[in-house]
Amino acid sequence: MIEKILEIQNLTVSFDDFKALNNLNFSMDIGELRLIIGPNGAGKTTFLDVLTGKVQPTKGKVLFRGKSLIKTPEYKIACMGIGRKFQTPRVYLNLTVRENLDLVINSHKGVIATLFRKVPTAETRSVVGLLRTIGLIGKANIKAAFLSHGEKQRLEIGMLVAQSPDLLLIDEPVAGLTDEETENIGSILLNLASSHSIIVIEHDMEFVRQIAERVTVLHQGSVLCEGTMDEVQNDPRVREVYLGVSE
Ligand code: ADP
Ligand code: MG
Repeated sequence: MIEKILEIQNLTVSFDDFKALNNLNFSMDIGELRLIIGPNGAGKTTFLDVLTGKVQPTKGKVLFRGKSLIKTPEYKIACMGIGRKFQTPRVYLNLTVRENLDLVINSHKGVIATLFRKVPTAETRSVVGLLRTIGLIGKANIKAAFLSHGEKQRLEIGMLVAQSPDLLLIDEPVAGLTDEETENIGSILLNLASSHSIIVIEHDMEFVRQIAERVTVLHQGSVLCEGTMDEVQNDPRVREVYLGVSE
């Protein structure tokens, strides 16, 4: 049997009377690159919030590599191997690209990581290796403040990978980027997909088509459908909720 990185059953998150996630079922194999799309308010960000422990489910089962994440604190989930990149880059502008990466690598050799991370599953990344992966080797000694928006996004992906997570969660990585930078980010994610499991949330359909093998469509807190980009785009239910967006 192929080991699952995530198995989620009947996941419900209620905010007062409103269900941001409603009996959501989802499963993903180790090593998959999965794209999640869906209209605004579909529950995409809430879904990632549950996976990082930021939001507690009202109901349901959430297993990461067979271990339950319910009531597990955020820092512990991070140490178990789930890393998240937020939409806005959070890099240290006064530090160089190299210093930003060094900082993450060194802080993750700390006590907490050693305590909770029994077997490091992803290989330990060197700074030079990371710089190559994100295509910033030529800018290693430049302060992050002088990077373009796209380069900052790439640096933050590097900082995420530096933590050696098994599962990367990436929320809207190409919002506001040029076509060229969008393609760069796509190549980086495809490259990382050979050694990580990755969930990407994105609105940009061109980008989704560039990198997606399997797409999950969320709608009103549940999975509406799942399949290849072509299957999903031709699904009448998706056309209905997405009218004008995917066509
Ligand atoms: P998406 O990322 O797909 O646009 P979200 O997960 O951000 O959707 O939100 C799903 C729904 O849940 C939205 O209607 C949003 O207003 C609501 N929601 C999200 N977080 C909260 C919260 N903390 N309190 C109340 N409602 C929330
Ligand atoms: Mg969102």
